[in-house]
Amino acid sequence: MYHITLIPGDGIGPEVAEATKAVIEASGAKIQWETVNAGLDVLETTGTLVPDGVFDSLEKTRIALKGPITTPIGSGFRSINVMLRKKYDLFSNTRPVKTIPGIDVPFQNVDLIIFRENTEDLYIGEERMLHDNAAEGIKRITKEGSFRIIKAAFNYANQNNKSKVTVVHKANIMKLTDGLFLQCAREVAKDYPHIQLQEVIVDNMCMQLVMNPSQFQVIVTTNLYGDILSDLCAGLVGGLGIVPGANIGENMAIFEAVHGSAPDIAGKNLANPIAMILTGAMMLNYLGESIKSRSIYQAVEATVIQGKFITKDLGGSASTKDMTNAIIENIQL
Ligand code: ATP
Ligand code: MG
Repeated sequence: MYHITLIPGDGIGPEVAEATKAVIEASGAKIQWETVNAGLDVLETTGTLVPDGVFDSLEKTRIALKGPITTPIGSGFRSINVMLRKKYDLFSNTRPVKTIPGIDVPFQNVDLIIFRENTEDLYIGEERMLHDNAAEGIKRITKEGSFRIIKAAFNYANQNNKSKVTVVHKANIMKLTDGLFLQCAREVAKDYPHIQLQEVIVDNMCMQLVMNPSQFQVIVTTNLYGDILSDLCAGLVGGLGIVPGANIGENMAIFEAVHGSAPDIAGKNLANPIAMILTGAMMLNYLGESIKSRSIYQAVEATVIQGKFITKDLGGSASTKDMTNAIIENIQL
């Protein structure tokens, strides 16, 4: 029995979290959920965006499945998501991007994973006005921060028999910051002589990804480029509704889909639950339940191939609940 914190979140969060709970239960995994919430709904009832109970639960279970949380403008938080990643030093944002057969997209063989550094770069929030008409922001890159994400990427490549890691940078222009990241990549690569280090400048990377994405296996990059490339890659395989993600640190992991709260479709039983369900499958894999994780992946694939119960964003007309039930039916134990 695993104890796991569940943060349903805002917007479509509760709908896709409910779906994921049901699918995980159907896989046979024994999980005791500790449900706590944060975000807009909580603000209305408790007067705070992130009640202490959220931190208490996270610090106890050390592992969470989390829906999207909206940060209201002017709330004192820049972003609750960024705050959680910083507070618990969840330095590795991992996003596997894989074609699901049956989804109508231009490329059929995408199978890559992005390792996005999650704590540094322009996301540190050190911005200031120089005077009324000028502002600046600090881009901070450290060796320690770079090494650990790059090592995570190489480690993954090594364990999963991948022959190449692509480091994405703009060191030709940002010679010190991106230069340091690139230098760290070259150093780490020396410890993995059987894995090729490919260096690609971020603008070229965007072009390569939309022309020939299947040439990439493992991508490692700094925070901002990682943010942008993740959404780009999600688009390659069918959009935000299907791409899972995880934020992992030394002693805590928070699993969350790439998408936001999608206020335009919230509460309408229209959201595609696949992203969150596959996020749940990633979590099971992290727990060592690889067989149950795979059975969920396969059930999702089977449901998409059957094409009968797929949501609107994938060209179908099924509701969140219909699709979830179809996935549950397709789980083979
Ligand atoms: P947030 O500020 O929380 O990020 P957003 O307005 O940026 O919210 P996103 O959640 O990022 O919205 O979604 C962007 C677009 O993708 C929206 O049109 C949304 O409906 C769609 N979308 C996102 N997630 C899903 C999903 N799971 N199923 C279907 N459509 C989705
Ligand atoms: Mg968004």
